[in-house]
Amino acid sequence: MKSAVGTTVIANGQLVDGNGGEPIPDGCLVIEHGRIVFAGERDAAPTVPADATRLDARGGTIMPGLVEAHFHPTYFNVAALEDLDIKYPVEYVTLLASANAKLALECGYTAARSGGSLFNIDVWLKKAIEEDLVPGPRLAASGREICGAGGLMDWNPEFRKIGMEGLILLVNGADEARKAVRKLVKDGVEWVKTYPTGDAAAAEVNDHHTLCMTFEEMHAVVQTAHNHNLKVTGHCRATAGIKNALLAGYDSLEHATFIDNETLDLLLERDVPSVPALYFEQASVELGPQYGMSQAVIDGHQETLEGGAESARRILAAGGRLGMGGDYGFAWNPHGDYAKELAFFVDYVGLKPLEVLTCATRTGAEILGRGDELGTLEPGKLGDVLVVAGDPVTNIEILQQRDLFLAVMQGGVIKAGRETGERKE
Ligand SMILES: [Zn+2]
Repeated sequence: MKSAVGTTVIANGQLVDGNGGEPIPDGCLVIEHGRIVFAGERDAAPTVPADATRLDARGGTIMPGLVEAHFHPTYFNVAALEDLDIKYPVEYVTLLASANAKLALECGYTAARSGGSLFNIDVWLKKAIEEDLVPGPRLAASGREICGAGGLMDWNPEFRKIGMEGLILLVNGADEARKAVRKLVKDGVEWVKTYPTGDAAAAEVNDHHTLCMTFEEMHAVVQTAHNHNLKVTGHCRATAGIKNALLAGYDSLEHATFIDNETLDLLLERDVPSVPALYFEQASVELGPQYGMSQAVIDGHQETLEGGAESARRILAAGGRLGMGGDYGFAWNPHGDYAKELAFFVDYVGLKPLEVLTCATRTGAEILGRGDELGTLEPGKLGDVLVVAGDPVTNIEILQQRDLFLAVMQGGVIKAGRETGERKE
């Protein structure tokens, strides 16, 4: 991805650096050749060349670009789970994924970790974004996800004879788990996404208290993935699945819904981050009836919501790390609504806005594996910045108002927001 040429100065706003400290009221950010060289009080800013580009934050906020830590670029706002796999051919879903990536960037998300993709679309989408062919967040790709046969993601009936090959690599036993990871190594993913547990969405045989993989399968996934320098994460609802994942050596957890004392200790021991993705549950409870969800499914989502919120509070209070991401891409939880997750964590879970902003920036970048160059506004890091005409520290809801975004920048280049196109390069 090309960085900006020359110097850019952003001032006349408060600066939130992503580390969780109080905002600097009269802040200034200086970016040189795409990298931050200064982030602090305007009075202390270095002198810049006369031809530097100046961006006025208009009394608003200068903050790091947001990171969506559980992004499904190929989920195209489907109204039924099955549509994720067979509704359209891969060619069309690739175009939809590209449109979703563009939207995410316009929503202030300058980086994202894929939580799984149809075929290998996210790997190639990442390349297209890196080469500036299409706009989108800097991506970490996951490709197809791994699930035990008969588990949550194995829904196409046998009589159709089509398997789940587009979306999921189904495994029976440790050997097949290793084989699936080796396939993903060739595909070029960075994260291996697995399904240790079921979910409220499949109330009958794979609900949120069931397991979809054995410990042996999960351990084989981790050993093989780590051998090839890939990281492993997994959809973890049930306590037993969380425990299996942590003992198997997972690098992050998705949801970590029903954490108990033992699993919390295991999580803290290796500082494993978790991405709760809670607004999805709320949206499912609220809008489920109009999308034909059964009462059992809705009740399950309510239980997941409450359990997940309690686990998130406990993890953060105990010094653990949370990433913000939301499983967006369903009709009742569509792409573009990403920042609803942030407001939900303030309003329902009870976190402070500054805590949520750190989860959505610094921790997200750490989960991506790029904490050294993304996620905070500090010298040496890439100029991935969100400039917003408002104060998300007192009202985090404003991050849902794209018309308030003055600039969404990657490497100092303005990619979206009101200032788009005005900057010389
Ligand atoms: Zn997901």
